[in-house]
Amino acid sequence: MAKVVVLGAGISGHTAALTLRRKLPKKHEVIVISPNSNYQWVPSNIWVGIGKMTPDQVKFKLAPVYKKMGISYFQALGKTIHPEGSKESNTPYVMVEYVDGEKKGQTEKIEYDYLINATGPKLNFDATPGLGPHGGHSLSVCTYDHASHALENLEAALKKMEKGEKQKFVIGTGHAMATCQGAAFEYALNIAFEVNKRKLADKAEIVWLTNEYEVGDFGMGGAFIKRNGYITSTKIFTESILAEYGISWIKRAGVSKVEKGLIHYETLDGEYHTINFDFAMLIPGFAGVGFKAFDKTGNDITDKLFAPNGLMKVDADYTPKDFDDWKASDWPTIYQNPSFDNIFASGIAFAPPHTISKPMKSKNGTAIFPTPPRTGMPSGVIGKVVAENIAHMIKTNTKELKHKASMAKMGAACIVSAGYGFRNGSAASMTVFPIVPDYDKYPEWGRDLSYTVGEHGLAGHWIKLLLHLMFMYKAKAKPFWWMIPE
Ligand SMILES: Cc1cc2nc3c(=O)[nH]c(=O)nc-3n(C[C@H](O)[C@H](O)[C@H](O)COP(=O)(O)OP(=O)(O)OC[C@H]3O[C@@H](n4cnc5c(N)ncnc54)[C@H](O)[C@@H]3O)c2cc1C
Repeated sequence: MAKVVVLGAGISGHTAALTLRRKLPKKHEVIVISPNSNYQWVPSNIWVGIGKMTPDQVKFKLAPVYKKMGISYFQALGKTIHPEGSKESNTPYVMVEYVDGEKKGQTEKIEYDYLINATGPKLNFDATPGLGPHGGHSLSVCTYDHASHALENLEAALKKMEKGEKQKFVIGTGHAMATCQGAAFEYALNIAFEVNKRKLADKAEIVWLTNEYEVGDFGMGGAFIKRNGYITSTKIFTESILAEYGISWIKRAGVSKVEKGLIHYETLDGEYHTINFDFAMLIPGFAGVGFKAFDKTGNDITDKLFAPNGLMKVDADYTPKDFDDWKASDWPTIYQNPSFDNIFASGIAFAPPHTISKPMKSKNGTAIFPTPPRTGMPSGVIGKVVAENIAHMIKTNTKELKHKASMAKMGAACIVSAGYGFRNGSAASMTVFPIVPDYDKYPEWGRDLSYTVGEHGLAGHWIKLLLHLMFMYKAKAKPFWWMIPE
């Protein structure tokens, strides 16, 4: 009997756990360890943040789903990884700490044959002084709790505007190397939509503050897309949407500090600036969740498993190279740790070999550019592929890794909600193929323009809503859930 432990029950870990359970005979055990008792469909947190969905519409309890599926679930936090076991036993284990229930605060060893690290990002608010909703001065929509808190502030701002007071909204990235521009962009558009709908545009100033060299970079170095038969850049596409929604923008900006009502940032030209705000939603930098790893004698081997940013090392080419020497083949395909072949990282938890956007530094030496986008579709696909490989290895008693999923061979669809409403809603829909450009295969544009397209309109809103319903259905493991793709 084999034991597979999945750390994290987000988009990637949950997909991996459900896939393992479907693919593996019952005699093998699938265990999920995650501190949050709820699954959350993170992309819909944007709608929680504008009051169009309640937190209950984007989350559900994990325990009943895992019980139904025959998956063991511990509401606990993974703390340390011991891939060689201990002096007493060679069986590898993770040390976990319970965060709720009778065992709250207690630690326990959970042994594994295979381990999947799908712990997503640490929302690194601490990397920017004053950032974030936990004692800082800015808001976030990264979790449903953060989004509910952002909504309270949004409602208060809208009330002030209704009474004739002007409000300044600053939305964007809260760290010089933050990613997830798409989510912040989506929130900015939704706020603009609500403000316009309430005919309050003259009372609002909305600013998009971003670390991108050009807006529309989205951490993937931008893209050229086919639109209405023409080839256009995501820069033009994004700038036209911002202009249409009455949003101004500040680009090449690395936020360094947030004070009450005041954001400090440096721009790539080395100048230091401030911008005042009444309402600021800024995405933090991402890091790994901070696992430590130890060998069987207790020596710290964290650097064997993890990159300095805390994300897990996998089968990527991490050799330092100049931007012009980066290759699509640097990107991992099986997400296996190079030191321990029974450890895998899926979703945001794996360390990318390098950024996709060109690294840039200000004359003061501050790196200001986005790290790679870590979106839901690749996170789900990677979770599935890792689970399929592990199930295959267990069933065939081999080390064969048949399934592959490189972000340089995978497309991604991104639907940026730009206003909620069945009749007057809107979204900017974009597909890129592949996510990581491959200039050997597609020398002209880096991507296949037949599948790299963008549109803006009502249909995108319906699709986004439909995707919410489909992915919640799938995550609840309802009948034929596996037929819905990642
Ligand atoms: C507001 C917002 C909107 C977004 N919109 C989109 C979108 O429209 N389309 C899209 O494709 N992507 C979108 N994304 C990105 C998408 O949400 C992520 O790609 C996806 O959530 C990553 O999945 P993951 O499983 O790697 O990480 P997560 O979903 O973050 O899951 C990580 C899991 O690990 C658990 N965990 C953390 N620490 C530990 C630990 N120590 N031990 C055990 N478990 C732990 C967490 O509780 C969680 O269950 C959005 C992101 C945000 C923040």
